[in-house]
Amino acid sequence: MAAQVQTVTGPVDADRLGTTLIHEHLRNRDEAVWNQWPNAVAVKEDPPYEVRADQTYEIAVREAKAAVDLGIKTIGEPTAMLLGRDVNFMRRVSEETGLQVIPCTGIYTYDHLPQFFMNRDPDQIADLFVHDIEEGIQDTGIKAAFIKVAADEPGVNENIEKVHRAAARASVRTGAPIMAHSRPASNTGPRQVEIFEEEGVEPSKVQIAHTGDSDDLGYIEGLLEKGVWIGLDRYGLELFLPYERRQKTTKALLERGYVDRMFLSADSVATTDWFPPNVIEELIASGAAKDWTIRIVPEKVLPELREWGLTEEQERTLMVDNPLRWLTS
Ligand SMILES: [Zn+2]
Repeated sequence: MAAQVQTVTGPVDADRLGTTLIHEHLRNRDEAVWNQWPNAVAVKEDPPYEVRADQTYEIAVREAKAAVDLGIKTIGEPTAMLLGRDVNFMRRVSEETGLQVIPCTGIYTYDHLPQFFMNRDPDQIADLFVHDIEEGIQDTGIKAAFIKVAADEPGVNENIEKVHRAAARASVRTGAPIMAHSRPASNTGPRQVEIFEEEGVEPSKVQIAHTGDSDDLGYIEGLLEKGVWIGLDRYGLELFLPYERRQKTTKALLERGYVDRMFLSADSVATTDWFPPNVIEELIASGAAKDWTIRIVPEKVLPELREWGLTEEQERTLMVDNPLRWLTS
């Protein structure tokens, strides 16, 4: 039987994934704020940034449709706990647009954990992840295809290590791959990989997301030498690394032969509650983000790389084979 990958509309044969953006979000929001003050939540949208919460669905549909029109068949949707994961929302967007959406389990935090997790050990947390992978998410029967964790500016501290060990144990128990948000500027990647190694996770199951926020080839190759995947996955987020430097890094890595270890994506968010509307306006005006949408890879990054010399075979490896291989590793 052909390997299958779980999507929000059910399992699909892996060879049906097609062109895939491995890291794009349909909606991010804080589930606690959302529940407590739904009146206060504004979301990112074109000026004047006054879109109400109930419009998040139509914005997500619009962005998903734009991706489909550009030839994207599938996205990895790493919206985990604390980013407002809602697989019914994802399923509705997928059904309306035809975009295949691959959901995850996991916890997105840089430090804080609710008491529920403070007072449970990594194996008990792993049980929750395994439940999402084997039984389904939020009572839907929709199963998680991968596990998401994060480390950022506070580093791999006690809480973050706990979540990483839980993810690793769930991966060992189920075979599910792991996507680890990293922060190269805080050198988190090597320690994240080390924890997964200690727990016995195959490096071929580990993707270190946001590695492309650095253009330090020594740092990047240090990770690649461990056998993990890297995400060059924040095209358009100028504040972490400008577009031209991202492209230069991608080309250098292609020239060094790493085509079969990397992902191109944008970490776009169709709607988010992270900033007040006026701050979003200021961030865009200041150039912190530019063309940062689900469209940037198919519309801008890939055409430029083709012009530069990316072969059809390399493009297929990057956009079709790599997602399939990581998800079925
Ligand atoms: Zn993300």
